[in-house]
Amino acid sequence: MDQIFFNGTIRTLDPAIPLCQALAVKDGVIMRMGTDGEILSLAGPETAKIDLKGRLVLPGFCDSHMHLLHYAQVKNCLSLFHATSLSEIMELCAGAVAAAKEKGSWIMGLGFNENNWDDKTLPTRRDLDRVSQNVPIVIRRACFHMMIVNTKALELLGLTGEKQGTTTHRIGFYPDGTPNGFLQEETQNLVQLSMGTPPLEQIKELILSAACDAAAMGIVQIHSDDFEAFAGNQAELIIQAYRELAEEGKLPIRIYQQCLLRDQATLDAFLDHGHRTGESYGAGLFRGAYTLGPLKILTDGSLGANTAVLRKPYRNAPNTKGIHIYEKAVLQKLFDTAHRNGMQIAVHCIGDGAIEQTLDCLETAMDTCPRANPRHGVVHCQITDIPLLERFRSLNVMAYIQPIFVRGDMDIVDDCVGPELAATSYNWRKMEDLGIHASGGSDCPAEPFDILPNICCAVIRTDLAGSAPWYPENGVTVEEAVKMFTIEGAYASFEEDIRGSLTVGKLADLVVLDRNIFQIPAGEIKDVSVDMTVVNGRIVYERTQAKTFSI
Ligand SMILES: [Zn+2]
Repeated sequence: MDQIFFNGTIRTLDPAIPLCQALAVKDGVIMRMGTDGEILSLAGPETAKIDLKGRLVLPGFCDSHMHLLHYAQVKNCLSLFHATSLSEIMELCAGAVAAAKEKGSWIMGLGFNENNWDDKTLPTRRDLDRVSQNVPIVIRRACFHMMIVNTKALELLGLTGEKQGTTTHRIGFYPDGTPNGFLQEETQNLVQLSMGTPPLEQIKELILSAACDAAAMGIVQIHSDDFEAFAGNQAELIIQAYRELAEEGKLPIRIYQQCLLRDQATLDAFLDHGHRTGESYGAGLFRGAYTLGPLKILTDGSLGANTAVLRKPYRNAPNTKGIHIYEKAVLQKLFDTAHRNGMQIAVHCIGDGAIEQTLDCLETAMDTCPRANPRHGVVHCQITDIPLLERFRSLNVMAYIQPIFVRGDMDIVDDCVGPELAATSYNWRKMEDLGIHASGGSDCPAEPFDILPNICCAVIRTDLAGSAPWYPENGVTVEEAVKMFTIEGAYASFEEDIRGSLTVGKLADLVVLDRNIFQIPAGEIKDVSVDMTVVNGRIVYERTQAKTFSI
């Protein structure tokens, strides 16, 4: 045996042996499970023996929807989330300008919120010019809907000559009609375009650093939507970066790529390259370290912006039902193409109108070209009534849910859709009862990818800061929540036979926690720490030390 993990409280999620003390690993695979005595007797002179000290062991976690490269970029930004005044923002930016390694490279600050400041006054480009007139500076509001840039950045973006009344960009103006440095909504994309795409080696570094952070959260697999992390769609470059890391054996965890391809031409080009769901890289123990997953499509926006598509008008904005991103015929053709070519499909839908449109189109695609269990799914899947959920079951469509969203959304859903529909929305209890495959994710960087607060939200449905639970009857048990973040994630990538529970013959991917989440009040689960993460029997993270994974 290569490794023996003993003296643990090992919850396997395998009904055949739900609980054991020890397990033995060879070549990354679980060979035996049992009592300490049984398993330790298998040790040879070369066997590494890891004492679990009685702690809880679970199958390693999976985050079934996030954006790893976006997270890596946000991590590298100057954090403005905790700033309490404009002068503090200016000081932070000045510090970043002074510390910048490459002279003149963009300074990106993220997360300011003027409502947290004493005078609540937004700066303009002239304020930021006092920090630097030579270095482009961008600060982005915590809501992500707006940025403020200095004059140097405005020059690089080619926006200095824009005039109020004639511009096609969504920008702000001073009273004299000249730009004040505010960029709103899609105009913010110009910054990404201007900054360009980093070289391959730098993308690989970003991936590695983010993947190590994920490993520290007990995560052994993520489903990541990355193709638009930089300017435009960079599918080939991003596949190459992950592929090289997988083939070099450097990825500490497994990545299942959600392939964002927004239009027919982009999808066709991707298929013409020969890409399909299941294309996989990595050898030996690293086999499948990087695998192409589903086509990812977005069909609506968000509830907060009233752009998620509802079947009835918004209660708080009766003149709108949200905005469909695709006409049905266009969406149908995308799904038909992907489905016929062997792609899995994962569709961002938040409102019930978007979910209905997607289920209609998936049903037609599957009827037209029957395929065994293609495992198409709906990402977010928030506003639902019971008949809509029953359609998930009858079509065998999966849900990718983000329980942690409740803490931000619980204050707005009733206003948007009314209490009757809210009471059947974010309805993970009904999904479980119907037998819908529902996997859990964070949508990081929208929320942090810590799994334990997410599990906590799935069970208690509060804001995690002491609010009253929000439709608590729609919550799940701790065990059901753990399954959402383990075996259901494996199911969503067609890997439930090799991962997702601790079973003889499956990969030895596990997480060790500092407390037993089945024996403490559910509200405390958010505070439980990951002590160790193991991938293929190898410790890739251990809390007592800094990151133990080395390349
Ligand atoms: Zn997302």
